[in-house]
Amino acid sequence: MRPVVACHCVECRRATGHHVAATAAPRDSVTIAGEVRWFVSSPGVRRGFCPVCGSNLFWDRTGSERIAIFAGSLDTPTDLRLVGHIFVAEKGDYYEITDGLPQAPQGGADRIAEES
Ligand SMILES: [Zn+2]
Repeated sequence: MRPVVACHCVECRRATGHHVAATAAPRDSVTIAGEVRWFVSSPGVRRGFCPVCGSNLFWDRTGSERIAIFAGSLDTPTDLRLVGHIFVAEKGDYYEITDGLPQAPQGGADRIAEES
């Protein structure tokens, strides 16, 4: 799985109450056992939830070779690490990002992960 990248975009903030931290994996390497409810959050993008507890699980763009998996939903140890932040131009005004990791004003999760 790709290293974890935090997304501070408006959609992620509103969907989760803060920001998202997600890894990603090739779509054909992911097996979903059980039910997932999908919500179309913007054109060409859907978010997957657990229908029992409502947990955020996936972020899925139509046509992408990869599916994003919310890191907080994974069992530990994940052997993953946070490597950067995207959409920081849209971050909430009530916190600062102080971990020293790379920040991108807009998208670019895969680029940040590749450069980590
Ligand atoms: Zn986002």
